Amino acid sequence: MKTEKGQRKAAQRAGAKSGERHFEGLGVSPGVAIGPAHLREGQVARVPEYAVPATKVGAETRRFEAAVDKAVRQLEKIRRKSESFHGTSAEELGYLLEAHLQMLSSRRLREGVLSRIAERLNAEAAVAQEIESIAAAFDAVEDAYLRSRVSEIREVGQRILRNLTERGFAGFGDLDAGSVILAEEVTPADTALMDPGKVAGFACALGGAEGHTAIMARSLGIPAVLGAPGVVGGISPGDLVIVDGSEGLVVVNPTKKRLAAYRKRQDEQAKEAKALARLRGLAAQTRDGTRLLLQANLELPREVGQATAVGAEGVGLLRTEFLFMNRDDLPDEEEQTEILTGMVAGMGGQTVTIRTLDVGGEKLASSLGGHLGESANPALGLRAIRLSLRAPELLEAQLAAILRAGAAGPIRILLPLITSVEELRATRVILEKVWRRLKRRKVATAKSLPPLGVMIEVPGAALAADALAHEADFFAIGTNDLIMYTLAIDRGEERVAHLYNPLHPAVLRLIHFSVDAGLRAGKGVSVCGEMAGDPRYVPLFVGLGVRELSMSPKALARVKDRVRRLDAVAAARLASELTILNDSGEIARLLDLFNARL
Ligand code: PEP
Ligand code: MG
Repeated sequence: MKTEKGQRKAAQRAGAKSGERHFEGLGVSPGVAIGPAHLREGQVARVPEYAVPATKVGAETRRFEAAVDKAVRQLEKIRRKSESFHGTSAEELGYLLEAHLQMLSSRRLREGVLSRIAERLNAEAAVAQEIESIAAAFDAVEDAYLRSRVSEIREVGQRILRNLTERGFAGFGDLDAGSVILAEEVTPADTALMDPGKVAGFACALGGAEGHTAIMARSLGIPAVLGAPGVVGGISPGDLVIVDGSEGLVVVNPTKKRLAAYRKRQDEQAKEAKALARLRGLAAQTRDGTRLLLQANLELPREVGQATAVGAEGVGLLRTEFLFMNRDDLPDEEEQTEILTGMVAGMGGQTVTIRTLDVGGEKLASSLGGHLGESANPALGLRAIRLSLRAPELLEAQLAAILRAGAAGPIRILLPLITSVEELRATRVILEKVWRRLKRRKVATAKSLPPLGVMIEVPGAALAADALAHEADFFAIGTNDLIMYTLAIDRGEERVAHLYNPLHPAVLRLIHFSVDAGLRAGKGVSVCGEMAGDPRYVPLFVGLGVRELSMSPKALARVKDRVRRLDAVAAARLASELTILNDSGEIARLLDLFNARL
C-alpha cells in the first residue's frame, strides 16, 4: 500500500502531465481557497512619462539607483531564504533569481537608463524605454535561448518599475472577488488590508507559521500557505489556483479530478463550521464543572462583530498595531479614541483588554519610521514597551485614548514585552499622570483607573513572574514570543519553523512557573498566544490552572468543544506529569493520547 506521501507524489505525477503544478510550503491558515491568481508583483499598469527639470537630473538618477539597489536586496532575500528548499521548483527558482540579479547589474541597462535620464526623462519612462529596447534586440537574434530571455528582461524591468512607483502599501482594492493572491512576501500590514470577501486565499515565497502575517490570516479566516518558494515564478494572472492552507500545498491549474476533490473538501468544511456554530450559546465548562473564560484576540475593528458572533466573553488581547499601519503619519489622541471607543462599545459591556503599541521586530508600522530606526537585531531592539517609554508622547497619547475609550465599557490595559518591574512602574507613573490630566480636562473616561497588566512573553519576565505578580494587576501569557525568545527561533522565519516547538520542556516550565506565580498572588492569568487557540493544548492549560484563554474568534468554537469534553481533575494529573518530562516528543505523545481519548 502506498503511504500518504507516496499517493501525493503519484497524484502530482499524474497532474504534471495535464499542466497541473504543485508548490509546497507551510500551511499557516487552514481551509481551502480556489480562485484565479492575482500576482502581487504584477505589471505596473501605467508608466508615467514627463520631463524632469535640469536641476533634478541628479535626484532622478539617485531614485533609479535606489530602485535597482532595492531590487537586488529583494532578490537576494528570496535567494537566501530559498536556498534551504529542495526539489526542482526551488532549483529552477535559484537559476531564475541568479539570471535576474545578473541583468540588474548589466552595464547596458544601467548606462542606457542613465543616458535617458541625462536627457531629462523621468526614471520610470527611462527604465521602460530601455527595457523595451534591450528586449527588442534580444527578440531579433537567431538564437532561441537568447530570445527566450525576453520575458525575463521584462520581469526585471517590472521589478525596477514597481520599486519606483510603489507607495509601499498598495491595497488589494482592485481585486476580483474570490482571487488568490500570489506574492513574494505578504506583510502583516498587507494582510490588514485584505477583505475576506474578496481575497479567497494567498500564498507566498517567504514567511513563517507564527509571524503576524500568519496570525492575521488565521484571524481573518483566509486560507494561506507561506514559505513556498516556487509560487513567484511562471504563473500567469488568472490561472486557476488552489491554496490548501491545512496541508501547506498550492496547486496551479488543477486537473478536473483534483478540483472536484477540493470542492468537496470545501463543502465538508462549511458543514463542520455550521455544526460548531451551534456551540455558541453553551458555557465553556468542563464535564466536572470548571468554568473557563474564552475571550477573543482582535487585530482589526472589523473583527468585533466576529467576536460577539462566536460568543466570546470579552477581549483578552486587542492589538493596537493596526492604528499605525499603512499610513505615513501618526494617529493622534482623538483618532485613536474614536476607533477604540467604537471597539469597546461594540463588545456590549464585555471587558476589553487593550494592549499598548507593540511594533518593532517583525511588526513594522510605516507611520513610525523615524521612531523605530534601524536595528541589527530588531527582535531584541527598540520595540514594544521599550519604544513607548522612549517616546513618552506616543505612549501618553495612546494611554489617554485607551482611558477615554473606557467610558464606553470596561477595559484593562496590557503592556507588551515587559522584562522588568521597572518598566511596569515607569508606565504606571505615566498612566497616573495622563489620568489626572484627563480628569482636569473633564473628558469622559473609565470610571476608575483600569487594571494594568503585563504580557509574559520574554523568558526573563517568566522567571521574574513572582516579582511582577506583586505589581501587575494581571498576566497575559504570550506564547508566540515566549517560544521565540526561549528557543531563539524567529517566529516569522520559514527555515527554522520546524524548530518552533510549543511543547519544548523549557517553554512548559516557563509557562508553569508564570501561571503559579500569578495565581499565588491572586492575579488573573490568561494565555493569549496562538497556543490558546489550538484545542490540542486545552488540557495542558486547564491542568496548569489557567482559566482564561484568548484567541482568534475563528478558533473559539473548537476550543470550547474541547473544554466541554474535558475533565479538569484528569487534566491536572496530566499537566503534573507533562511538566516533569524532559523530552518534547514524549510530552507530545502523552498529550495527544490524552486528547484522543476525549
Ligand atoms: C504573543 O507574543 O504570544 C502575543 C500574543 O503577542 P503578539 O503575537 O502580538 O506578539
Ligand atoms: Mg508578543
